Amino acid sequence: MTESNAAPGSNAAPGSNAAPGSNAAPGSNAAPESHAAESGRELTAKEIRRRKRRTPPPAPEPLPGLVDAHTHLAACGGRTADDVRAILDRAEAVGVDQVVTVADDMEDARWAVRAAHWDSRAFAAVGLHPTHADDLDDATRSEIETMVADDRVVAVGETGLDYYWTTRSDDCADPAVQRDAFAWHIDLAKRTGTPLMIHNREADRDLLDVLAAEGAPETVIMHCFSGDAAIARECVDLGYVLSFSGTVTFANSHELRDAARLTPDELILVETDAPFLTPHPYRGQPNQSYAVPYTARFLAEVRGVSDDEMAQVLGGNARRHYRLPLP
Ligand SMILES: [Zn+2]
Ligand SMILES: [Zn+2]
Repeated sequence: MTESNAAPGSNAAPGSNAAPGSNAAPGSNAAPESHAAESGRELTAKEIRRRKRRTPPPAPEPLPGLVDAHTHLAACGGRTADDVRAILDRAEAVGVDQVVTVADDMEDARWAVRAAHWDSRAFAAVGLHPTHADDLDDATRSEIETMVADDRVVAVGETGLDYYWTTRSDDCADPAVQRDAFAWHIDLAKRTGTPLMIHNREADRDLLDVLAAEGAPETVIMHCFSGDAAIARECVDLGYVLSFSGTVTFANSHELRDAARLTPDELILVETDAPFLTPHPYRGQPNQSYAVPYTARFLAEVRGVSDDEMAQVLGGNARRHYRLPLP
C-alpha cells in the first residue's frame, strides 16, 4: 500500500479492515445509485459520498492477458479460500488472469502464502513493509526466509522506505531501522534470486542510494511508482521495473504520465494496490484486481498504443519478471 491515508499496516490483518461491501460483486448493489433513502427522504451530500465510497466501480470491458502486479487480497475482503476465489473470478472475467498478493507484516505474509496455495491464479510476495521494520528479528528473518523458498512466493516485499508515516504515526519504524530492514530484504532477494518488490513513499533519493550502496538484485520492481520523469529515467537506466497504479490516472498526475511515457516496453507493469488507489473516475471507491483494465487502457492511451498491445506488454512483463506460469 502506498498512498492511502489509512494508518500504516491497516490492511495487515487479513480482511479485518476491509470496507463494508468491498467484497461485494461489482454491480451487486446494482440498483443505479438512487439518492433517496429507504424512508423516501433525500440523502444528504455526506450520505451520498459515504454510499459512493462503499460502491465498487462497475466491471470494465474485458481486456485479456493482464496480471495485477501488486494487490492486497486480504484487505480486499479476502478471508477464506471462497472469498479469494470470488475476487479472482471477478478479475478473470475481465481478463486479469493472475495476481500477486503482497504482505505488509508477518500475519499478512503467512496469509498471502496460504492464499497463493488456495488458488492457482494467486502468487505471493512476502516481507515486512518499511513501516513495520521494527518487527524484523531473528525469528521473523528465519520465517520470511522459509516462506521465500515456497514455490508460490514470487517476490520479496513489500520493502523499502516510507518517510510519510515516520512523522505521522508512533507505530512507524524510524528511518534508520527501515534502512537496515531494507538492506536485509535486498540481500535476501539476491541470495535467493527472487525479484524485489519496493515500496517508496517520499524517499526517492535515499531509496535509490540504499539500492546502489547494497547492490541491487537482478529484478527490482518499483511498486506504485510515484516519481517524476527524472527519477523514472534514473530507474529505467538501472533496469528497474516501474509498476503503475491508478494514481497515474488521477487528474493532477502529470509527472507520473511523463514517467509512464518514457518507460521502455520491457520495464512497465500495471497494478491496483487494491483496496486503495482506485483509478479515475472511481477514485475513492473500493478497488480490486478487476479494475486493472481501467489503468491498462489509460496507459495505452498515454503511450499511444492499442489496448490489446498494451495488455500483452503488461501481462507478458509480469509473467517474465515474476516468472509466473502461463495461466
Ligand atoms: Zn501495497
Ligand atoms: Zn506500498
